[in-house]
Amino acid sequence: MKRDGDILVDNFGRTVNYIRISVTDRCDFRCVYCMDEEMQFVPRARLLSLEEIADIARAFTELGVGKIRITGGEPLIRRNIVKLFRDIGRLEGLRELVLTTNGSQLPRLAGELQDAGVKRINISLDSLDPDKFRRLTRVGELDKVLAGIDTALATGFEHLKINAVILKNRNDDEVTDLVGFAAARGMDISFIEEMPLGMIGEHDRAEAYYSSDEIKADLERRYTLLPTLDTTGGPSRYYRIVETGTRVGFISPHSHNFCDSCNRVRLTCEGRLLLCLGQEHSVDLRQVIRAHPGDRERLKQALRASMAIKPKGHEFNLAVKPVIFRHMNVTGG
Ligand code: SAM
Ligand code: SF4
Repeated sequence: MKRDGDILVDNFGRTVNYIRISVTDRCDFRCVYCMDEEMQFVPRARLLSLEEIADIARAFTELGVGKIRITGGEPLIRRNIVKLFRDIGRLEGLRELVLTTNGSQLPRLAGELQDAGVKRINISLDSLDPDKFRRLTRVGELDKVLAGIDTALATGFEHLKINAVILKNRNDDEVTDLVGFAAARGMDISFIEEMPLGMIGEHDRAEAYYSSDEIKADLERRYTLLPTLDTTGGPSRYYRIVETGTRVGFISPHSHNFCDSCNRVRLTCEGRLLLCLGQEHSVDLRQVIRAHPGDRERLKQALRASMAIKPKGHEFNLAVKPVIFRHMNVTGG
């Protein structure tokens, strides 16, 4: 039961009302910035079950969390994942159930996701060139993602957005085309600076760094960008493209720190509650729920207590390698 005023507020006065849940660390792609080529995945016995995830989601909503993002790894390759969407979609107090996906499974699942209550989807797309796309994802097929985007558009979600990680000399020449792709389909787009999460052997993150300001300057050669006051309570800074109406977001963990307004926490697929993307402060929620099955008050007490260790912020420094040892697929991007 939700009690009035029973909400999550940290020691810096920030209210946490948004949780991102990584439901698996596995994926059908191997993006070069996200995973190492030879990844060790979490053994299945250590994963939270879908029921455990739903219980944790419910405890969060009873503490005022109104927005839940399902992510991964690739969330849509987890078996029976639609059931989790349905269970979470029914939670009282939930305002927004959203998803981040690489899009490959959307031709199969888009309709069921919409029925379960998903209104907004972020789809990752870093290149429109099949060869480049393959090199960036190591194994991904561009056609499948484009088919996923087409299905999502035809299904009629409220809001669809492209997410693109831009790496220097790999896909920085495509930023204008990616905006054109999104604009032609009435989608928004966000550009993300690569973050130093986990060891990767494929490239040097410092050399591949391409800043949001560089992307913005590239776009301004073709388009007029107007700053907007739009906010999703998150790290994106938004602009509107005058010529097309497209909203362009910049997620800039290096060049524009966003910790002061942080409203979120993350749950890993093993049940670790991460209080900050770029720090290791965490609480083992799997231990709490397995030691006290069905005791939601104890779970909620663990969530309230976690607020005391939410750090003030993080600083990424590309000269230190790696800053954080867990990869993005574990973190839940
Ligand atoms: N598999 C899904 C996908 O790709 O959308 C969801 C999980 S993925 C980890 C979520 C987002 O994190 C993607 O948009 C991806 O491009 C981004 N990402 C992964 N590793 C990153 C890194 N090291 N720095 C910045 N963004 C990263
Ligand atoms: Fe998979 Fe998403 Fe990571 Fe790419 S970014 S490897 S699609 S989890």
